[in-house]
Amino acid sequence: MKLICIGRNYADHITELANQRPTEPVIFLKPDTAVLNDESPFVIPDFSENVHHEVELIIKIGKTGKHITPEFASQYFDEIGLGIDFTARDLQDQLKNKGLPWEKSKAFDSSAVVGDFLPKSNFADLNNIPFSLQKNGETVQDGNSSLMLWKMEELICYTSTFFTLKKGDLIFTGTPAGVGKVDAGDVLKGFINEQLMFTTKVI
Ligand code: ZN
Repeated sequence: MKLICIGRNYADHITELANQRPTEPVIFLKPDTAVLNDESPFVIPDFSENVHHEVELIIKIGKTGKHITPEFASQYFDEIGLGIDFTARDLQDQLKNKGLPWEKSKAFDSSAVVGDFLPKSNFADLNNIPFSLQKNGETVQDGNSSLMLWKMEELICYTSTFFTLKKGDLIFTGTPAGVGKVDAGDVLKGFINEQLMFTTKVI
C-alpha cells in the first residue's frame, strides 16, 4: 500500500508558505510505514523542532488502475476519509532550499494519520465537502473540497499516469491554510462536516 500526497492544492495554503502556484499537481509519496497505528499517539521526532499538522481529505482507491481517463475516474474510489500529513517544516525548508527531495521531512515513520472513512455515496457533492482540524478544542484549519485546485477525479487521472493505483492505496489531497506547529500535549481532532474522523494525541 502506498500513500500518494498532493502538495499545493489550495491557493490559500500556497500563499501562507510563499510558494509558487503550480501549473501541474505537486506529488510526493509516503511509504506504508508512515501510517500512524490506530489509537497510537504521534511522537514528535527528535530530528525536527517544527513539525506541522496538515489536515487533508483522503481518497481510498478501490481497484487497480493505470492511465485512468476522466470518464472512468469515479469508478476507482468508493470511500473518502480524513487524515494528517505531518511535516517536519524545518527539515523541508532546508531540503527545498537545496533543491533536494522532501522525503525525510514528509515520509518519516508515523507521519500520516489515517482516520475513519465514509462511503462516497454519503456525499451529495464531492466538490463541496467541509472539513476541519481542531487543536486543543480550537479550530485551526477549516477547508472545503470546493477550494481544491485539482479535484478528486482529476487527481486520480493525473497520479495514475505515473503510478499504477492499487486497491487500498490512499491519495492525500492537500491541505488548506492554517498549518502550524504541534507540541507535546496537543490533542488533534479532525472533522468532516460535524463528524469526528480521528483523534490524535501528540507526545
Ligand atoms: Zn500535505
